[in-house]
Amino acid sequence: MLKNEAGCRSYPAMTRPLPTIVHLDADAFFVAVEQVLNPALRGKKVAVGGRERGIISSASYEARACGVYTPMPTAQALRICPDLILSNSGKGLYGEFSEKLFALCEKITPLVERRSIDEGFLDVGPRGFADEPALTTAMRNLQERILRELGLPISFGLATNKLVAAVASKQNKPRGFTVIKAGNEAAFLAPLPVGTLPGIGKKTEILLKSNGINQVGDLIKQSDSLLSSLLGSNWRGVVAMSQGIDFSEVSTEYEDAKSYSRQETFPRDISDFPQILHIAKGMIDILVPKLRADGKRARTLTVKVRYSGMIDDSAGHSLAEASDMETPFYALAENLLHIAWRRRNRPLRLVMVKLSGIEDQPRQLELFTEENESLARKRRLASVVDALNARATGTKIRHGHQVDSPPPPCDAV
Ligand SMILES: [Mg+2]
Repeated sequence: MLKNEAGCRSYPAMTRPLPTIVHLDADAFFVAVEQVLNPALRGKKVAVGGRERGIISSASYEARACGVYTPMPTAQALRICPDLILSNSGKGLYGEFSEKLFALCEKITPLVERRSIDEGFLDVGPRGFADEPALTTAMRNLQERILRELGLPISFGLATNKLVAAVASKQNKPRGFTVIKAGNEAAFLAPLPVGTLPGIGKKTEILLKSNGINQVGDLIKQSDSLLSSLLGSNWRGVVAMSQGIDFSEVSTEYEDAKSYSRQETFPRDISDFPQILHIAKGMIDILVPKLRADGKRARTLTVKVRYSGMIDDSAGHSLAEASDMETPFYALAENLLHIAWRRRNRPLRLVMVKLSGIEDQPRQLELFTEENESLARKRRLASVVDALNARATGTKIRHGHQVDSPPPPCDAV
């Protein structure tokens, strides 16, 4: 087994003789949680989202059959589906269901990458399943166990890489189970709409279709110059994807003990810089007290953003000196968000904040300079706030940028 740059365990994609990457995606996750909490909602036209923000963030398959989709304004959903039931009783419990879901996955393999609250990759290669039937039996057992123990229907996609597994899991929802055999990747993708490929957004899809490129398999038939003019500098990457080629590894942030990270998937794609910065600073407010509690300091802040289609950009910067205070990271976060969000014409699906370059806190300040005195005062204040927040069961002490509540969660499918 290899280690990649982030120190995560990885498994060389080209040597996989079997489909060993599993993508799992809960079906209508938030609605499914609502239905577990209130079984009377099963089989009904149910949606989660809310009146307060006016957007549907999850809809049952019965509601979808009525024309409700996400994200759709709630008012519109109620117009086309007057007997739609809006339910939000699981607020605060979605995260717990997600934790339990991934805990069951981690019983199969420690190599679990959480892509969102209800979606993740498993690398089961190191488990060394003898053959495909043994692998599919184990995964079907996992699918059934999640349904039995948590009440959550999940769709699975099994393939030789993340790209194909993620597309496969979407093919037969709900409770789908799609296996793409090694060597069949390009043939599987070829008849699918070209917009299926990650990174092909609505506008690009329309552009491609107006040039007669409707299916994934049409891409390979085009001239280099046409593809270059339609897709820009990354056209070769898109053609590689169309052939089912993807070498990205399943990465497990929790395995990287040398960092503290947090990410959030938005209810709908967001273009509002201040709103995203507010969310990122809120993550710093959670991560830095953890650092202090662990007696650590961090030197480096990384901000990662994700656009629709699982396309990521990131930026990082190191402080001259490691810190266990929020303030230096706030200032960095703003700059790094500007740099990371380099495709500013595209709204964001997710933001992640990571603190790395972790060092132990010095036992004491060695020099009693004025600057260190001031820092010591700030640290004492921070530790008082941390202690109060640790004891608080209700309202916690919040920073100025935390006054507005973050947007509610959302599942796309
Ligand atoms: Mg889902």
